[in-house]
Amino acid sequence: MWYFRNPLIVFGDDALEHLREIKGNRALIITDENLVKLGFVEKVAKELKHAGIEYKVFDQVEPDPSIETVKKGAQVALEYQPDWLIGLGGGSAMDAAKMIWMLYGTPDTEPYAITPFQDFEARSKAKMVCIPTTSGTGAEVTWFMVVTDTVEQRKIAVASPEALPDIAILDSRLIKDLPKNVTSDTGMDVLSHSLEGLCSTWRNDFTDGPALMAIKLVFQYLKRSYDNGSDMEAREHMLNASALASMSWSNGMAALLSHNMGHALGGFFHITHGKCVGLYTPYNMEYLAKVRADVLAQAAKFIGFEGKSDLELAQQLIKKVRELARSIGQPLSVKELNIDRKAYEKVLPQMVERAMGEASLPAALRIPDEKDMEKMFLYAYDGKSIDF
Ligand SMILES: [Zn+2]
Repeated sequence: MWYFRNPLIVFGDDALEHLREIKGNRALIITDENLVKLGFVEKVAKELKHAGIEYKVFDQVEPDPSIETVKKGAQVALEYQPDWLIGLGGGSAMDAAKMIWMLYGTPDTEPYAITPFQDFEARSKAKMVCIPTTSGTGAEVTWFMVVTDTVEQRKIAVASPEALPDIAILDSRLIKDLPKNVTSDTGMDVLSHSLEGLCSTWRNDFTDGPALMAIKLVFQYLKRSYDNGSDMEAREHMLNASALASMSWSNGMAALLSHNMGHALGGFFHITHGKCVGLYTPYNMEYLAKVRADVLAQAAKFIGFEGKSDLELAQQLIKKVRELARSIGQPLSVKELNIDRKAYEKVLPQMVERAMGEASLPAALRIPDEKDMEKMFLYAYDGKSIDF
C-alpha cells in the first residue's frame, strides 16, 4: 500500500483571490518582515477582508528559521486562536508556518521532535494555506520542514503527514519581481527536485508524472523567466514546475544524491541551497548513468531527445542540464565558487559523512560507498566528468 498526498492546488490568473472563498473567523499570517515591506502581506490581507476574516501577522521568520522563532509563533497562535494559518514566503516562512501549526495543535511538542508517528490534532484547530513567493522550494505541497538549532549550529529536517497544507496558492504575480540570481538558484532547485524524485527506488506512476512534467517545464521556461522576469507565462510555468517537482520527491524520495551533497556543502560554505544542489546534479546524473541510464533516458525522451541507446540519451540530458545551468549564470564546478581547495578538502571527511548519513540514501538507484562519495565531491570541485 502506498499513498500520494497533496493539497488543493489553486493556480493560474488571480489565484490569490481564492482566499475570498475560504470560511472562517481568524487567520494568522506567518511571514517575514521583508514581505510586509514589499506589500505582499497587504495583498493577502485584502483578500481575507473580502472573506470577512480577521487577521494577525507574525512576521518574525528569519532565513533558516530557528527553534525559538517557531515556538514564538506557536505562542502567538495559542493566544490568538486562529482557524486558519497562512504561510506566506519562501521555504523558511512556509516551513515555520507548518511547524507552528503542529505546535498549535499539540503545544508541548519541540519543533525538532516532530515525527510522522505522532498525532498533533492540528487540523482540528486550524487549516493551513501556503502561498509561495519564490519558485523553488515547493514547501507548499510537502509535509517536510527544516528547523535550525542555533545552539548546535545544525539544520534538522522533520516531517509529519499532518503538516501537509490544505491549500497551496500558486499566484505568479507574487514572483514577478524575483531578482535574476534568485530566479536562477531556485530554478536549479526545481530541476534537482524533479530529478531526485525520478531517480529513486521509491518512484511510482504517481511520482514519475509530476517529475517528468517539471523537468520539461524547467527546460522550457527557466531561461525565459531568468532573461525576462516580466514574462508571466514563463513565471507561471516555473511556479507550477516547483510544486510538481516537490509533489514528486515528497511522495517518493529525493534520491539522486544532489541534496545529500548540496546540504553538506551548504553546511560549511555560505552558498545558497539551489546553487549547491544544482551544482552537483550533473555529476550525480553521470554517476547514475553508469548503471541506470534507462531512468535518465526516460526523461530525455519525454523532452524530445532521440538517441540510439539509453546511455546516449542520458548523456544528452546531462549536457542539456549543464548548458541550461551555464546560460543562467550557474557555476559548473565548486572551484568556480571561489572556494579554496584546501578549505574544501579540510571539511571533505565531514561532508562525506553528512552526505552518507541522509535518510534518503537507501532509496538511491545507485548507492555509493564512502570512497565513491568522496570522489564525487572531488570531481565536482575540479569540474571533471564522473568516470567511475
Ligand atoms: Zn531543494
